[in-house]
Amino acid sequence: MTLPEHTDFLVIGAGPAGLTAALELCRHGYRPLVIEAGDTVGGIARTENHQGNRVDIGGHRYYSKDPAVTALWHDLLPHDMRTVRRLSRIHYRSGFLPYPLELLPTLRHLGLRESIAILASYLGARLRPIRPEVSFADWVSNRFGRRLYRAFFQTYTEKVWGIPCSEIRADWAAQRIPGLSLTSAVLGSLRRATKVRTLTRTFAYPNLGPGQMWEAAADRIAKNGGQVVLRAEAGRILTRDGRIESVVVKTPHGQRTIRTGAVLSSQPLSALVEHLTPSPGPALASARALKYRDFLIVTLEIAREHIFPDNWIYIHSPEVQVGRVQNFKNWSAALLADSRTTTLGMEYFCNVGDPLWSLGNAELGHLAAREAATLGFCRADEVRHAFVIRQRKAYPVYDEHYRHHVDTLHSFVRGFTNLETIGRNGLHRYNNMDHSMLSGLAGARRLLGLGGDPWEVNLERSNYEEQVVAHSSKPVPPSGLPPQQ
Ligand SMILES: Cc1cc2nc3c(=O)[nH]c(=O)nc-3n(C[C@H](O)[C@H](O)[C@H](O)COP(=O)(O)OP(=O)(O)OC[C@H]3O[C@@H](n4cnc5c(N)ncnc54)[C@H](O)[C@@H]3O)c2cc1C
Repeated sequence: MTLPEHTDFLVIGAGPAGLTAALELCRHGYRPLVIEAGDTVGGIARTENHQGNRVDIGGHRYYSKDPAVTALWHDLLPHDMRTVRRLSRIHYRSGFLPYPLELLPTLRHLGLRESIAILASYLGARLRPIRPEVSFADWVSNRFGRRLYRAFFQTYTEKVWGIPCSEIRADWAAQRIPGLSLTSAVLGSLRRATKVRTLTRTFAYPNLGPGQMWEAAADRIAKNGGQVVLRAEAGRILTRDGRIESVVVKTPHGQRTIRTGAVLSSQPLSALVEHLTPSPGPALASARALKYRDFLIVTLEIAREHIFPDNWIYIHSPEVQVGRVQNFKNWSAALLADSRTTTLGMEYFCNVGDPLWSLGNAELGHLAAREAATLGFCRADEVRHAFVIRQRKAYPVYDEHYRHHVDTLHSFVRGFTNLETIGRNGLHRYNNMDHSMLSGLAGARRLLGLGGDPWEVNLERSNYEEQVVAHSSKPVPPSGLPPQQ
């Protein structure tokens, strides 16, 4: 597809944020140009196809409390959304525990002696909580006791982030951990079901994977006169007097400078600032200080019809490197090329350049097959194929300085009158698709002069796991953090 020389609105990135922003612009009669560096739409929520097996970048549940988001999903895929019953457990010490943690099955699995030690440690934490509550380790220990924290939270969280829990901010825990405290886990277990549990029991999912939604969104944009161009990467962004004038776009056929009236950018905030020309000076230090966690998924096609009933399993066991295992068949059987097989997505959290990331695809396939066998999911000789997908910057990291740097960059980008940053990495928010979509919507509306602000879209409003925390407890965030964090 040929790139134009000029557009009123240039959207960088065809993930949920960029595509939602473009749809909103189309709704108001504009014809936006969306450029996407990759060769498929959907961003981290895309679905790739390997020899007929469709694979997500980690399973993507569709769940939102926001009516605008759910209405758009329904409008884009009126006949292709299925309701999936959620089952996810924790693999720990050769057994399975429910997730979110439930007290009674957990204590049964651990045995009487360990259970008494856990209760004693919990009571100790209630009597003498860690103050101030700064780190993830402090936050969890205060609510569950030090011993349960070590058994269930520390290993998995350190696998995910690759840094000690003492260096992760407490606000991340406050956002992400459903279940809240040992007390509420006990009450939840006794009542068997809470309002919160009911909410998270099922989720929606497109028959052909999350990418199906974004393929439908791109088609809708094209039908409305917009353009979505793949393999087109935004490079240098030329600015003058607080305005973006043009963007240099690299394609396999060369590069083109596109003049633009306004830009909505869902590329990582750090990359955006690096690309600004002339160079912004002081803001660069904050851009370069933002950190990310990368991710890879090795999907194994296994010659076995049924392996386990869960959608996914968290792997706490420290003897393997895999962090989580998706069973795609249990999301939608239509994802598989052959119904007599099972595809397991072995998820590894890593950093570009570390020993795991640096392994070749064949070695990663062997590692994943070995670990699936160690966990008892299959025999290594049942693995027919393995395919690897690498995802850079999958997770924005909340380290102890990130808030300061994000605030600095927020004020800095506000200095441009025709620029909005949107989405997960555009705002450096550990979010879900619905938050990204709402930020895209708000960014488009703000540029159209209709109000809204992507930086103000509240994670609590859009994200059901955060909702659990917001409704059930009021953790006191470390000073300097906004209450929703
Ligand atoms: C393992 C995992 C599981 C998840 N599970 C869920 C879930 O169950 N439910 C849920 O709601 N959310 C889930 N998420 C979160 C979800 O993936 C994100 O919230 C969502 O994809 C973010 O959308 P986005 O458009 O903001 O960003 P992205 O998806 O990152 O899209 C940004 C796009 O911009 C493109 N881009 C970047 N730089 C450039 C450039 N210079 N030029 C052109 N294009 C560029 C990228 O290629 C990408 O396509 C999960 C995330 C991960 C990592």
